[in-house]
Amino acid sequence: MSDWTLGAVKARNMEINALCEKEGCRHLFTFNLDALIEGVGPDYPLADIPPMECPACGEGQLVIRLSFVDPAPEPEHE
Ligand SMILES: [Zn+2]
Repeated sequence: MSDWTLGAVKARNMEINALCEKEGCRHLFTFNLDALIEGVGPDYPLADIPPMECPACGEGQLVIRLSFVDPAPEPEHE
């Protein structure tokens, strides 16, 4: 994921989430990707997003994750 840029995330119809790693909080929020791109540009690498403190509990560190906006159906069955 270190090579991902904001533009690449958007092009794949994915979104950027931040999850609090503190046990018992697990606050999750979704970045406004369009606003981010407007602010820093589509070439901004995800790896450059600075470490952030959780706004909900104020203690946990937020972990950046990517997820699909619309989960792709899984064609394979076991
Ligand atoms: Zn938290």
